Amino acid sequence: MISRATPVYLDYHATTPCDPRVVESMIPTLSRDFGNASSRHHAFGRRAEQLVEVARSRVARLIRCEPAEVVFTSGATESNNLAIKGVITKSGQQPAHVITVRTEHKAVLDACQTLEKDGTRVTYLGVDADGRVRLEDLEKAMTDDTVLVSIMYANNEIGVLNPVREIGDLCKSRGVLFHCDAVQAAPYLNCDVDELGVDLMSLSGHKMYGPKGVGVLYVRRRRPRVRLHALLDGGGHERGLRSGTLNVSGIVGMGAACDLVYEERGRDASHTRALRDGMLELLTRSCPELQLNGGMVDRLPNNLNVSFGDIEAERLLETLDGVAISSGSACSSASWDGSYVIKSLGSAENPDGRGGPADTLENEARARSSLRISLGRFTSVDEVDLAAAELVRAVGSLRREESLRAPSSCGPASCATGPEVGEGFD
Ligand SMILES: *Cc1c(COP(=O)(O)O)cnc(C)c1O
Repeated sequence: MISRATPVYLDYHATTPCDPRVVESMIPTLSRDFGNASSRHHAFGRRAEQLVEVARSRVARLIRCEPAEVVFTSGATESNNLAIKGVITKSGQQPAHVITVRTEHKAVLDACQTLEKDGTRVTYLGVDADGRVRLEDLEKAMTDDTVLVSIMYANNEIGVLNPVREIGDLCKSRGVLFHCDAVQAAPYLNCDVDELGVDLMSLSGHKMYGPKGVGVLYVRRRRPRVRLHALLDGGGHERGLRSGTLNVSGIVGMGAACDLVYEERGRDASHTRALRDGMLELLTRSCPELQLNGGMVDRLPNNLNVSFGDIEAERLLETLDGVAISSGSACSSASWDGSYVIKSLGSAENPDGRGGPADTLENEARARSSLRISLGRFTSVDEVDLAAAELVRAVGSLRREESLRAPSSCGPASCATGPEVGEGFD
């Protein structure tokens, strides 16, 4: 059995550690450079403002926009809320129509639900068996009332990528605004806002080696100029879009994190892809019944989402020792009844739109058995070897328990032996 003081961390989709270089950049803002960025009349304030503007231009360099198009928020939950509620409220259109997808982050889905209570019409598109939204479905859903499309770049559970560029083109041709939650994509993929054709884009500091409590909403200023209603009333910071004293430390950290991603994104992508593929190989070698959730082609390089037959994820996580992973999203609910993302797989193929294969019992089980494994910049080959061995051990021990309890109804006996630990891969 593996027992480590510090478990192997494979939950980078939930949060990433702050890069030590980011931490270094933030330290002066906590002591010497403590000013309020709005205090223009003295040097302390001007210094803080200057630091914020450097950070703003670093974010702008990463997503290739104007610094004035970057709005700092408290995180991507706020960015998503500001984008969706801000556009619809400002439009004043009644009824307004929003199109989003069932597999979006809760911050998007719940913001849409709130709007629905006030009369906005929302279409929740299904996804194909790989977990991607289909362009033809989006096109069909568009009406003359459609004001906004909100579709994520990369899914936070299954890592699957949506055809963002094509969605951007379609939205542009229909004169519909396009908001994209690019939180999970940003550390790995080019998020050039013009190339992708997005009008609003959400980023989160703590998903890209920056600090928690800081995020970005990109808001296009030209062709078209996006107009937003603010969520907060107050001092009119951030061009009136986000009142509240600026989180200078967080913003400086976000800027440093964006610089590192800009420089190292390619390396991070190939590093995690090699480790991720190696991990998958180790797991499938020992557990042939392993199922992959979501398509493997258009997918983040650092994501794996797997089910071990019908072994429930919650039980597996309890049995796991020394590996920090999660089932689906880092949700707060105590009664977890399976991932809604996994349940939605295949829902686009079902004409009644009520969920495709995922609504079958088999896929309900798969939703409850899905494990999200996400790697990152600081993951090592040794950690992947250890984690794979530990997963195989846990699956094997649950299988044995199962077969002792119900000898006639057990699944394929597997995972009895571990992978060749230490063999590794390059
Ligand atoms: C984590 C996450 C969010 C929320 O970001 P916070 O900064 O934690 O509020 C939104 N969307 C996606 C896809 C995420 O993974």
